[in-house]
Amino acid sequence: MQKPKIVSQKVHEMQPSGIRAFFDLVLGMEDVISLGVGEPDFVTPWQIREAGIYSLEEGFTSYSSNKGLYKLRLSVSRYLKNRYGLQYCPDEEILITVGVSEAFDLALRAIINPGDKILIPSPCYVSYGPLVELAGGIPVYIDTKKESFKLTPKSLEQQIDKKCKALILNYPTNPTGVSYTKRELEGIKKVLLKYKLLCISDEIYGDLTYDFEHTPFPTLSGSKNNTIYLNGFSKSYAMTGWRVGFVCGPKEIIAAMTKIHQYTIMCVSITSQMAACEALQSGRESVEEMKREYKRRRELIVDGLNRLGLSCMKPQGAFYAFPSIEKTGLDCLEFSRRLLKEEKVAVVPATAFGKDYTDNIRISYASSFENLKEALVRIEKFLKTNGRK
Ligand code: PLP
Repeated sequence: MQKPKIVSQKVHEMQPSGIRAFFDLVLGMEDVISLGVGEPDFVTPWQIREAGIYSLEEGFTSYSSNKGLYKLRLSVSRYLKNRYGLQYCPDEEILITVGVSEAFDLALRAIINPGDKILIPSPCYVSYGPLVELAGGIPVYIDTKKESFKLTPKSLEQQIDKKCKALILNYPTNPTGVSYTKRELEGIKKVLLKYKLLCISDEIYGDLTYDFEHTPFPTLSGSKNNTIYLNGFSKSYAMTGWRVGFVCGPKEIIAAMTKIHQYTIMCVSITSQMAACEALQSGRESVEEMKREYKRRRELIVDGLNRLGLSCMKPQGAFYAFPSIEKTGLDCLEFSRRLLKEEKVAVVPATAFGKDYTDNIRISYASSFENLKEALVRIEKFLKTNGRK
């Protein structure tokens, strides 16, 4: 008789995150410049930290309502209204979550029936595929490489069949830094409406768009009822460790997500929620300041990489560059391993974001200007000794 497996088949078959696997190599090495992890190098702005500390001093140490503090849901609602003209009811259309990560997982579990297909433009953030599978769905990857890493209405439409339930859209995109203009989004929206598909729109980097205004997907006419809008505080407010985000959408979907949330999480840490209220109230200037600095670094790293012959398109948002290393003749895993070993610069091989992307690496420029300058010097040295084709 076959020995029963302790771990479920699904989890057993799941691959560990390619980023984490690679970064285990970095642990214990000295003098490494890490351009790997997608996390702001800034500390959370002081007044936000202070609001968290003050809430503890005041004795706010309990659970909050499952949906999140009303005060925070109201602040989210006002923020979206003032900034984008978007209207979401704080009672029924907004849920506070443990980062976008939880919001994303809830969204999938709330909508997927076994065997539903979920469309994912690829390369993509590492969690999407595994979480779709855990929720019982089938991830269908849409390769975007030929279209400069952008999803087009045509490539989307080609993949749609009766089993499709939703598209996961993430812009600005991790790992490519690509974003979409309003016009481009309109084209995608039309296809989604034609086939009555939902859009799970992960806009966690929405505040970090450099070349044009960010357009939230639910602001497109006719799309609000089909969109689950995800956003959070981790990236724009440098609050990764606080674990707080939010999701807005049609009330049936938010109610379904809240059911799962109340059994699994109950509520987000009240300290983090109090800090997030302060972020929305007074954090704008800090966000703009960090954004200016990311933009300055973007110029440095993109120009630097292109000068070294590693062709790199200009990312329109987030804090990632996605250069091609094809010219070196190395695949991205070998390139990244050797660069780490020989020059102590850590980058992420693009295969972490989709198995076919062997010709690219992801470089995070959420690292100091000085680190980036030094990294470029080391990469130049590396390229002198490592086979250019
Ligand atoms: N979505 C994308 C595209 C990300 O890049 C990340 C983090 O890197 C997340 C979601 C997770 O964000 P959070 O910290 O809000 O859970």
